[in-house]
Amino acid sequence: MKTEVKALVVGGGAVGTSIAYHLARAGWSDVMLLERDELTAGSTWHAAGLLPYFNMSYATTHIHDYSIKFYKTLEEETGLDAGFFVVGNLRMAQTQARMDEYRLYSATAETCDVPHEFLTPAQIKERWPLVRTEDLLGALFHPTDGYINPADVTMAMAKGARQRGVLIERKWQVDGYTWHGDHWQVQVTKMAERGGNLVPTEESVVIRAEHVVTATGNHAQRTARMLGLKTPAIPVEHQYIITEPDPALVAWRAEGNPQHPVLRDADAKWYVREERGGWILGPYERGAPACFRYGVPDSFRADLFPLDLERIEEDYMSMIHRIPTSETVGLKDDFNGPICYTPDGNPLLGPAPGLRNMWLAEGFSFGITAAGGAGYYLAQLMTEGEAAIDMASLDPKRYGQDWMTTDYAVTKNEEAYEHVFILHHPDEERPAARPLRTAPAYERQKALGAQFGHVNGWERPNYYGPLDAPEHFDHDARSFRRGGWWEYAEAEARAIRETVGIIDASAFAKHVVKGPGATAFLDHFTCNKLPKVGRINLTYALSVKGTTRTEYTIVRLAEDEYYLVSAGAWHAYDEDYLQKAAEDFGMDHGWFTVQDVTTQWGVYAVAGPNARALLQGLVRDAEPETVLGNKRFPWLSMRNIELGMCPVRAIRVAYTGELGWELHFPMEMGLYLWDQLMAAGAAHGLKPVGARAQNWLRQEKSYRAFGTELGRDATPLEADLPRFVDLSKDFHGKAAMEATGIRSKCCTLLIDGPADADPWGREALYHGDTRVGRLTSGGYSVAFGKSIGMGYVRPELAVPGTKLLVRMMGDLWPAEVVEDSPYDPANARIRIDG
Ligand SMILES: Cc1cc2nc3c(=O)[nH]c(=O)nc-3n(C[C@H](O)[C@H](O)[C@H](O)COP(=O)(O)OP(=O)(O)OC[C@H]3O[C@@H](n4cnc5c(N)ncnc54)[C@H](O)[C@@H]3O)c2cc1C
Repeated sequence: MKTEVKALVVGGGAVGTSIAYHLARAGWSDVMLLERDELTAGSTWHAAGLLPYFNMSYATTHIHDYSIKFYKTLEEETGLDAGFFVVGNLRMAQTQARMDEYRLYSATAETCDVPHEFLTPAQIKERWPLVRTEDLLGALFHPTDGYINPADVTMAMAKGARQRGVLIERKWQVDGYTWHGDHWQVQVTKMAERGGNLVPTEESVVIRAEHVVTATGNHAQRTARMLGLKTPAIPVEHQYIITEPDPALVAWRAEGNPQHPVLRDADAKWYVREERGGWILGPYERGAPACFRYGVPDSFRADLFPLDLERIEEDYMSMIHRIPTSETVGLKDDFNGPICYTPDGNPLLGPAPGLRNMWLAEGFSFGITAAGGAGYYLAQLMTEGEAAIDMASLDPKRYGQDWMTTDYAVTKNEEAYEHVFILHHPDEERPAARPLRTAPAYERQKALGAQFGHVNGWERPNYYGPLDAPEHFDHDARSFRRGGWWEYAEAEARAIRETVGIIDASAFAKHVVKGPGATAFLDHFTCNKLPKVGRINLTYALSVKGTTRTEYTIVRLAEDEYYLVSAGAWHAYDEDYLQKAAEDFGMDHGWFTVQDVTTQWGVYAVAGPNARALLQGLVRDAEPETVLGNKRFPWLSMRNIELGMCPVRAIRVAYTGELGWELHFPMEMGLYLWDQLMAAGAAHGLKPVGARAQNWLRQEKSYRAFGTELGRDATPLEADLPRFVDLSKDFHGKAAMEATGIRSKCCTLLIDGPADADPWGREALYHGDTRVGRLTSGGYSVAFGKSIGMGYVRPELAVPGTKLLVRMMGDLWPAEVVEDSPYDPANARIRIDG
């Protein structure tokens, strides 16, 4: 047993094996994989092996795409047949909304070059006559995917890994991790078979590993405990059944017809594929329970749970409806196994929070599909410092260590499982485990009709609907087009442009960096000039590749004290990077501290032409008439003011592009302040405004958002933000940013789209017949009375006046690149005096 390696991968399922393979392929020569049992002994052995391309996320689509292409190459490389049946994948639609979903998906697929086509019911019937089509509107067909034998593909990857020098050791269980400054010491125990059980022996060793990757599947809770972490990766029971041969299917195949594609009746929530003349039915039914919430019992090896046929009865009946010949065939086999889940259904793939050289690859619910791509992109991240795609949406830190609990994970994972086949509306909000994190004015906002979104556990108003809204209002308001909420968001956006609005932004992440070394650290960590005392700057912390890792609004509170505000959805993700960067920088330039003050400060953004008049009525100052004027309170500055009895750190910025202030207040005074503002605002036309209207308004100002225009796949220069990059100084990521050049460039577009739909920010962009980029944001502009979007295109096209086309609802619609900040380009309205 080797006791010193560069990288140790823990877990020999599909995912761990792929990671070990790809680390070796990326050039790391000293990689070892440990498996406590046999390879594939976890969930991998009993997976149905489907490889669905379909995914509404850009990053995950890339991961699935890589896997599908990679698995096809394995046989040539290893001589082992991975058991890949490229039969295609047919997603059927029973409703117009489902077809709309496929059209939106198709836009994402197009931007990732994923082959797909739409079929009519007649075309389906013609190709696969056993399928009932009368009640279908159509289908989306992926010709290049299908299903694979999970054990075979894992063994092929294992062979490929060994050929590249990876050591694979079975029957070794990891029992502890200790960090020693530049390496991990990993305690491992030899396991042995005793009467069908797997038990620890007396034999144990300590392995020294520079890097560790955990890919422990259903054992993620035990792994997390050993690392002192909390993780939401908890399995849910998933079952599928195999029927006896269906004579009609056998006869049809005997005529020389090819296998059926994997059939997915999304509206009936199941997949079906052929298996030795019969059918495999895999439903994503309601009521599937989570399991192993505190760990896998020692007695559970490659075991299964008993079948719960009652739970899937409805799905069974709907299979019979769709494939009538299956009615008379009996059941041959069943599988009910643990399938690891996370609250949003995406894996946890990336650096572990707070730890060095510790990489998590946990919580895979489509692990056979994702293994190839997950291994490829994680290996890039580990060996090069960044991956070719932005991995943020998969990052383990999207669930904060400070608020996430076992019950939360269980509740949301059961919900995520049940939602696999629901309509994936881009404006969908899921109800489980809510409300959980509420800002002080939550009840007030609810009483005003607020319909909330769930952001990093927080409740955040998306829009304010009717006061007497029925319980399912928001659910019914969802759409792939302009939903039932659209008119409310439109009125809110208009209020900010015409009178004044208030937005609760309390979820913002907030940190204070303070001490004699703070200035030197932040100057190195961020790319813009630091502001003077009392002033504000927008700036970016870059990744090692010079792309955008975090966007900060930095307020300089004192010579050595800075208040950093960043995206609420990315609190733990930002915190981890900031803390680690501070540690790396060290105290040579003077000591400094980094303090997370997110839950100490609430935030209301008050913006609109009447914002100043509103606040003037509440501000306590010797000269209330001048305190908010441009002389005493210029744009991009900060002042401590008092609004009634509430001390407020007021920041003169407005993400909506109108005269406005962000009011940062002690969280416990938030209710008081809300009431004061709402009462004083009545005379000024104050309207509570949600995140959807805000998202539209910021696009009129071309303000980039983190997670859409800004992320680890583009530099701030590609985001076309040179004014926030101070090239005269040195900063982290600068050389890499400059070396990257401008691969594509961010721009704003006004779009003449369909009358009942706006883009969502995932659509393909065309120049004539050539695809030239994609949208990253989309919405409606009240100022221009048409759709608006932001996106990335080839640099030479990112110039005002360029005519492009946007793919929406299957058609191409005219769009024009406009000057940045098409609304109020001179910022006259933001700077207005009074
Ligand atoms: C019924 C069913 C059907 C499914 N169908 C599909 C499908 O069609 N398509 C698809 O993509 N996915 C499917 N899945 C999901 C798929 O099985 C999983 O996502 C995938 O197997 C996860 O792989 P993994 O490597 O992450 O985990 P696992 O396969 O569970 O591997 C983890 C490994 O880590 C080992 N391990 C754990 N702790 C330690 C330790 N401390 N030391 C050493 N070793 C350790 C375990 O023994 C195990 O072998 C299905 C799942 C189920 C239950």
